[in-house]
Amino acid sequence: MSNYNWCHGPNCHTIQTQSRVRGSGDNKVLRTIKIKDGGSYRTHERYSMFNYFCNQSCLMDYIREHLQEIVKIAPRSKALETPIKVEKEKYESYRYRYTDNGHTREPYQATRTTIKSVDNDNG
Ligand SMILES: [Zn+2]
Repeated sequence: MSNYNWCHGPNCHTIQTQSRVRGSGDNKVLRTIKIKDGGSYRTHERYSMFNYFCNQSCLMDYIREHLQEIVKIAPRSKALETPIKVEKEKYESYRYRYTDNGHTREPYQATRTTIKSVDNDNG
């Protein structure tokens, strides 16, 4: 049972950090980062993407390189919709009128627009 993954970032092994240097003498290399299972706070979630990528930059490199294949896995051929209710509600507010002597506070009717979820049981 393997308890680590190699970072899937396509350029991970080219980034010049001390943590990637392996080998000795004239045989040194930059190596892909090894991600130990649960070895990082970012891997707490079992299926976290950071079990497969050492950082966000490697994740984005992977998405850029494989974008067409990735979107083919779950294509979106039409827009999705979420039923909502838009409520407009009037309320008392104040605005400031600026004058030569400073400002005055004046009441006015303001409108607040709120988007609310609705049950979509009855389609
Ligand atoms: Zn990486």
